[in-house]
Amino acid sequence: MNVAVRTTPSEIAPEPADALDHLADALFHKMGTDGVYARTALYEDMVERLAALITRHREPGTEVMRFPPVMNRGQLEKSGYLKSFPNLLGCVCGLHGTEREIHSAVGRFDAGGDWTSSLSPADLVLSPAACYPVYPIAAARGPLPPGGLRFDVAADCFRREPSRHLDRLQSFRMREYVCIGSPDDVSGFRERWMVRAQTIARDLGLTFRVDYASDPFFGRVGQMKAVSQVQQSLKSELLVPLRSEEQPTACMSFNYHRDHFGTTWNIVDASGQLAHTGCVAFGMDRLAVAMFHTHGTDIARWPGGVREMLGVR
Ligand code: ATP
Ligand code: ZN
Ligand code: MG
Repeated sequence: MNVAVRTTPSEIAPEPADALDHLADALFHKMGTDGVYARTALYEDMVERLAALITRHREPGTEVMRFPPVMNRGQLEKSGYLKSFPNLLGCVCGLHGTEREIHSAVGRFDAGGDWTSSLSPADLVLSPAACYPVYPIAAARGPLPPGGLRFDVAADCFRREPSRHLDRLQSFRMREYVCIGSPDDVSGFRERWMVRAQTIARDLGLTFRVDYASDPFFGRVGQMKAVSQVQQSLKSELLVPLRSEEQPTACMSFNYHRDHFGTTWNIVDASGQLAHTGCVAFGMDRLAVAMFHTHGTDIARWPGGVREMLGVR
């Protein structure tokens, strides 16, 4: 007779505790997958207040657009995402066969088998960042006006980077201000936002520093891209030391794409010069987690100035 060998609880390796774990019960409900959580009222109210604070800092002449959590697959492919972060991308798949094929896939599942082998990709991906859809929309409007264009965009984003850490989700909210214009338009925009973002972080009572950063480009060639990104100072982050000074959490990022999206979508000004673009991204979920980790889960006891800034009575 075979006797199943059972591990007693003491033999199961304990989950290494993380500095943010203490927030889990107050902020989230588990949904069966690491990095995908239902949000409590306490948490969601804070995300909304942070969003309102960011809105109050919006520059005049900024056009608001809100995107769904999915975007056109061809547009993201054309943007070069697969060259940089293929490992993070989520693609929408469906049962696209004939009625017979679809019945047979479901039949396999009913018989305890695998239905997913019949899936095929749709023309949609899960948006990995909020700003990708705005460039083709801007391009379709024809030449840029003097001074360029500014947008306020947001989306639920997906990145396939499962983690137990509450500051690294697979499904998270990103808010961005985007500038499309001349190199001078974009560098001015970026400089203004680097200052403004630090004002916001200070108003929120967060400890932070701003530093140059690189994106986690995939693979060995990717490492070279990351080095060159730092050398050219194309990306900075506002870092909050939630678990340690050495491994801080990026709650906002400031990105200069040079003419990448201008070239990709042929965005030009009236004289035919290719547009440059830049964006400032706010990780809404990371900011909310940072607020609760910094000030605690009892908002009534937060510093008066911070409460006032967020309109908490
Ligand atoms: P990291 O280095 O921590 O992976 P990133 O450089 O990939 O961050 P960006 O691509 O600049 O992040 O995304 C903009 C912002 O979105 C980040 O500054 C962060 O606040 C937020 N963000 C990015 N990835 C996640 C995630 N997995 N979970 C929650 N928020 C995230
Ligand atoms: Zn962006
Ligand atoms: Mg990342």
